[in-house]
Amino acid sequence: MPMQSPSDFGTKADGSPSEDYCTYCYQGGAFTEPDITMEEMAEKGGAIMAEMYEIPIENAKRFALEQLSCLKRWAGREVPSCGSCGMPMRSPGEFGTGADGSPSKDYCTHCYRDGAFVEPELTLDAAVERYAPMMAGHLDMPLERAREMVRQYLSTLPRWRV
Ligand SMILES: [Zn+2]
Repeated sequence: MPMQSPSDFGTKADGSPSEDYCTYCYQGGAFTEPDITMEEMAEKGGAIMAEMYEIPIENAKRFALEQLSCLKRWAGREVPSCGSCGMPMRSPGEFGTGADGSPSKDYCTHCYRDGAFVEPELTLDAAVERYAPMMAGHLDMPLERAREMVRQYLSTLPRWRV
């Protein structure tokens, strides 16, 4: 989950905030449910998403599983994701490129090439309108709910964060 306010962050053994995990998952330097599997976590997360955004439960679980498989706890490493569209970048071809042609670790190839955004004029509203129908189709959910979900998600990304 996105961690926005200080109380969203988990705590390390010394009580200081964890940069990696939220308060539901991590307290006092340990996972709150150390034995939970990725599938069980997807069941829980999927059920919450299904209710919140009117997504058929099986689709919500499948989506939760896709998301979880990119996270540090489950992937075993940090899978970087694009700071503009959120796409996970697993293979070198998925990374955007800097002005000198080197791979960008911040943005994907669809959003960022040669050191600049592919669509510098793109606004958050336009991005929501673009991605929401894809999300609605992918998860078989109402378009209105998909707009809320996409907006919520995009607003946590570096390009759109306010
Ligand atoms: Zn992107």
